[in-house]
Amino acid sequence: MAIKKENLTNLYQNQLKKVSNYGNFDPDFMTNMCYPKNEIIVNFGVKMDDGTLKMFKGYRIQDNNLLGAYKGGLRFHQEVHLDECKALAFWMTIKCSLQRLPFGGSKGGVKFDPKDHSQSELKRISMEFSNRLYKYIGVDRDVPAPDMGTNSQIMDWMTAAYQKIRKTHDNGMFTGKSLKFGGCDGREEATGRGIMINLRKWFLKKNIVMKDKTYIIQGFGNVGTFASKFISQLGLKCIGIGDHTCYLHNDNGFDVVSMAKYSKENVGILGFSEGVKITKDEFFSLKTDVVIPAALELQIVKKEANNLNCRLVIDAANGPLNMEADNILRLRGIDVIPDVLANSGGVIVSYYEWLQNKSQEYWDLEEIRLKLDKRMEKTFDRVYEHAKSNDIEMRTSAFVLALENLEYYYNLMN
Ligand code: NAD
Repeated sequence: MAIKKENLTNLYQNQLKKVSNYGNFDPDFMTNMCYPKNEIIVNFGVKMDDGTLKMFKGYRIQDNNLLGAYKGGLRFHQEVHLDECKALAFWMTIKCSLQRLPFGGSKGGVKFDPKDHSQSELKRISMEFSNRLYKYIGVDRDVPAPDMGTNSQIMDWMTAAYQKIRKTHDNGMFTGKSLKFGGCDGREEATGRGIMINLRKWFLKKNIVMKDKTYIIQGFGNVGTFASKFISQLGLKCIGIGDHTCYLHNDNGFDVVSMAKYSKENVGILGFSEGVKITKDEFFSLKTDVVIPAALELQIVKKEANNLNCRLVIDAANGPLNMEADNILRLRGIDVIPDVLANSGGVIVSYYEWLQNKSQEYWDLEEIRLKLDKRMEKTFDRVYEHAKSNDIEMRTSAFVLALENLEYYYNLMN
């Protein structure tokens, strides 16, 4: 049965309910956490290349700013939905708090398929969305970044539109910009690199040798390609890749660097020279050590959770598992590294970009990787040890630790 995006609000609110059983949280604080602070919806028209005017609907959910400016990605996708943005914004609040960043959580997007538009149309859509959002965002107010369907080029256009309207040279109100326009070395690879750091830590904790272990990955965009590149460098073999075009299996292991190049040029993996085509069900039943969902929400639910044949799932996407899947995997002894921990590399390096934009002093890639790796490893240890000593899943531990930090700030202000 297809899972509706509307269920995402239920998912995060139920996750919160579950967590309240494990921490000694003030009920008023928890009630507060169940609702976003601001829900912004804008409708705007943009001229298409043929001269016609097309209307677009954009969202920005500002979930929580207890710790600092709202922070979260912008998605361009035909299924962008208010409930989806609410859940994604909430998970950003948890993610930033867990990583002790001076940011709250937000998320947004525009409901359309960017693949249907030329570069000049995309530029006008991005700039007009920025013109409509400028009142609500800013370096110390709300700092958007790329997510599904958006990239550094789109952040550059949106930043330029903001600067024009605000008459400023500040550039820290968007992160994930290009290097030419105040972006940060290592931002593009950061989420994928963070996935690798988490995977490596898990193998080390479990005392399992990584060489020749296998993994499969669903989603081969920004996060999927960088995650596979780094994970394959550890000696693991990628035996399955899936995206919106098809699912492929190759027992000998894919050349993930060639696949990334192919997929970028062909907007998908369909037609790649290696591997055989399989169904999505077959993909999620493959015998492998690690499964990495790196595409969309709610991809692993009851059926997939029962079929998985692995030791570890790493949530590279946001919200790829529902609670039923979480419970099934726990009963089946399959570990899950949750999204709020696993994919937080992106927002950490966004934070570095924001800091560099504030000072206009730029760091090199080596320094950024060193800082990122250290922070991710430290947070992994905190979550892993908390989960182990309380005999709970890492997702619950991540939420408890993040909420304890947020509650401290809440109590100071209330
Ligand atoms: P992207 O647009 O670069 O890639 C998305 C991938 O998902 C593509 O390979 C696409 O083919 C695949 N996909 C789309 N619909 C699919 C479907 N129905 N079935 C199978 N595959 C499908 O996006 P991204 O930036 O790589 O983001 C992927 C996920 O990671 C999202 O959940 C996003 O929220 C999350 N995330 C991204 C970042 C980041 O820095 N980009 C940070 C944290 C979390």
